[in-house]
Parts: sequence; C-alpha cells; structure tokens
Amino acid sequence: MNMEKYPSNEGNLENLINSHQNSQDSGDESEKRVLAMMANIQKRGEQEVANPDFNTAVNSPKTIRQDSEVDNANYWDLTDKLPSRGLVYPEGTMIEARPLKVIEVKKLASITGENADYVINDIVKRCVRVQGIAGTEEIYLADKIYLILWMRAVTYRDSSYTVGFTCPKCEKSSNYHFEVKNLDVNYLKDEYNPDTKIELESGEYIGLRHLKIKDEMEIERFVKINQKVLGEIDVELLALACMITNINGDISKRLLDKYNYVLEFTPGDLSQVTTYIEKYSIGIEEKMTVECSECGGFVPMDVVFRSDFFLPKYTAR
Ligand SMILES: [Zn+2]
Repeated sequence: MNMEKYPSNEGNLENLINSHQNSQDSGDESEKRVLAMMANIQKRGEQEVANPDFNTAVNSPKTIRQDSEVDNANYWDLTDKLPSRGLVYPEGTMIEARPLKVIEVKKLASITGENADYVINDIVKRCVRVQGIAGTEEIYLADKIYLILWMRAVTYRDSSYTVGFTCPKCEKSSNYHFEVKNLDVNYLKDEYNPDTKIELESGEYIGLRHLKIKDEMEIERFVKINQKVLGEIDVELLALACMITNINGDISKRLLDKYNYVLEFTPGDLSQVTTYIEKYSIGIEEKMTVECSECGGFVPMDVVFRSDFFLPKYTAR
C-alpha cells in the first residue's frame, strides 16, 4: 500500500488514542480535532474497503457486496470458511463480517482477562450480520474466534501494521504481519452427525452440540443466580450441561436439570462424553506460524488477544 496515504501521526492509532487521552484537559478544540482525525481515518478505511485491491489472495472473499444503507462497509460471506464450515447451522444460514472501524479497534484494544468475552461479543454483534439464525448469539464459539481474528486480519491488511515479538530464531526484537492464512483451523469433520445418541452406562442417552455465544451468557447468568444456593459450581461441567440438546429425546430440560444430570455421570460416562467432544472439537489451534520480518524465519506463535494485537505498533519501513 502507498505509504503516503498514512502520514505517520495520523496512521498511528496508538499515538492518536494517547493524544486523545492527553487532550481531555486542554479544552474542546483539541478534542474536536482528534475526533475529526478519527472520522477521517474511518472514512479513508471505508474507501479502501471499496477498492478491489483489498481482495488479496489471502483473504479473498467469495462475494463482495456493498451495503450503502447500513454503514457503507463491505460484508464478506464467511459461512463456509468458519471452523464449523457452516454445517451446524440451519440450512440457508449466512454469516457475514466486515473490517473493523477505528472505534471498534479501540474497544478491542481495551480487552482484559475479565471483560474479553463481553468486548468480543459486542464487536461481533456490531460487525457480523447473519441470515437464517435469530442473531449473532446463535454463532458457535469456535466460529466467533475465527470471525474476530478474520476481522483483525482484514482491518490491518497493510503489512506496515505489525505485531511486535522477540524472534526465537534470530533473537532480535522483530515483528510479524498477521494474516488469516497464519491460522491453523480445526474444521468440523465430515462424519459429524448432530443427531448422534451417546449412550451412558445407565442405558440412558443424550445428544450434544457445540457451544454458542448465547451459552456463554447463560453460563454466566446461571452462576450468578445459583451460586448461593448450590455453593460451588463446576463451570466445566456446567458448560458440558449447556451442550446437551436432549436427555433420552426430551428437549425440554432446563440448564439446572441438565447440570444436575451431569453431576450424576459415572466416571466412565464423563470419559466417554469428553472423548466424543474432543473428537468433534472445532476451532483455531493455539499456535499459528508467523514469518519474522528480521530473519524471514517461520516461528510458532501463540494466538493471543493482547491489546497490542488489535492495536499494533506502526512501523514505517
Ligand atoms: Zn527472526
């Protein structure tokens, strides 16, 4: 990309945000100026998105559609690129995402261990649109992580937006340019059958599905409401309870019933159920392979949600 479009003071979002924070005491004028700059960057970003050059080989979408009515940004149909390959959604479901805007990058850069789910779910709600399902809360968690990383990658498609790290090969302080192709995606296996009956030692059976965004919310709510009554709640077993679609064909059980049911599992049941879940687990592997900009070596890296991953340092090279 042409560097002239990004004069260093405007292109560096981190400086921009710092100057915004520092300017708060010095009156309306500087605040207005910063807001105008942010609006400009956002506008330019949107113009860039409309540019056909945006479709690099890495992130090439199947369909590009401009939706001027919503917010003038492009949405990409990612349904069959997701870890679930779109196969676990109702037929005709479409899941589309668009690059992040400045304000959304700022929000993502504010994530901490505590608010990560909330912040990421909020961004997904804003930047992902769905057809065929009730809302983004019906998206599976593995797909959510893919979506957020995809958005991160297409937002900073310019290779001058990089993430800093110390290269284990050349031992220099280096950086890499994150792309979707860096990710090691564990896709849903062909033989997965959502109607599989998992028989327990008692002779009863259950059905399971993958966790969705709405389950995260329900788990949190459940813990809040029931902690006092139940005492200690095992969140892993609660998540497992959330995955249960039916017990002996009965789909009407509440989460509390399912949780109590899971607590009665024999060790053999639990082992069998966990093996099944692991066999059909989907998602992004914890390690990805990135290219060191200093030595050109390929280095395994943790997939992280640190703030500087969403708001990388600007390096003019
Ligand atoms: Zn290196």
